[in-house]
Amino acid sequence: KVRRNNRSPVLRFLPEMDAALQRRRQLETELFKAIVRDELHMVYQPLTNLADRSIFGVEALLRWDHRELGPISPAEFVPIAEENGYIVELGAWALNRGMKEALTWSSHLRLSINVSAIQFSRGNLVATVGEALQRTGFPSDLLDLEITESLFIDETLDLKFAMEEMRAFGCSFSLDDFGTGYSSLGYLPKYPFSKIKLDKTFVRQSIASKQDISVIEAVLHMARGYGMSVIVEGIETGEQAERLRELGCKYGQGYLFGRPMSSANLQSTLLNAA
Ligand code: C2E
Ligand code: MG
Ligand code: MG
Ligand code: MG
Repeated sequence: KVRRNNRSPVLRFLPEMDAALQRRRQLETELFKAIVRDELHMVYQPLTNLADRSIFGVEALLRWDHRELGPISPAEFVPIAEENGYIVELGAWALNRGMKEALTWSSHLRLSINVSAIQFSRGNLVATVGEALQRTGFPSDLLDLEITESLFIDETLDLKFAMEEMRAFGCSFSLDDFGTGYSSLGYLPKYPFSKIKLDKTFVRQSIASKQDISVIEAVLHMARGYGMSVIVEGIETGEQAERLRELGCKYGQGYLFGRPMSSANLQSTLLNAA
């Protein structure tokens, strides 16, 4: 009886939910084969000094081009891999590939690599990072690990200890997507972050209003107090860059300075800039 009622919101949404669920299941199955099929690669986006627009580092970002489905965004597949634990393998692959490619560039830049909470809780990130450094020979003092702010909601993770161990290798840490995840800042000085990455969604609005500008100033002030630097994400216009520089921001990342690009294209960019 219920099944024939077309106006039931539940039944109306069922086909779509089914499609989303099916896509998710398909991606999950396919993702397990992505490494051996050689469907993954890394792209690199410049991290820039706002004062002279020189490149001081890059953020490494994972890409998956499925042979039939085409490119799939990490915003779609990373959460799936986090849920089933496969991010431990993907993350190890990303670390090794990133360090290996970075060593081929003519200038030695800081390399920032994203790591997920699951790599701490289900994998042994300390060992993975240590092995990757050893295997590739990448200088550990040029390695930054980006950890997203929302990770700090799970206070049970023994994150601080793992971070201290990796800091002993020489690595640094950046707090990613700052401004989106967590309301209390009390946790911040407890962890050894050297950089804060101010989230792009936050920046887009922050240029518009007076009130939002005071938020940026507050973040800059707080970061200075903790001895951390701030990188502003998602800068797309010259106006934004100029405004942020006036406010006292030193570092930026965004399409204005460069899109995420292949290792080879980054190398050409570096040569052209030199
Ligand atoms: P994220 O770490 O915050 O990375 C920055 C994202 O902002 C990237 O999206 C980048 O392409 C995008 N972006 C950079 N500049 C601009 C801009 O000017 N405007 C706009 N609108 N966007 C900009 P992407 O590459 O799609 O990655 C999405 C997210 O997926 C990342 O956010 C990160 O959380 C996750 N991710 C990517 N690669 C990895 C990885 O190797 N491991 C893990 N655990 N997560 C990853
Ligand atoms: Mg990041
Ligand atoms: Mg970010
Ligand atoms: Mg993000």
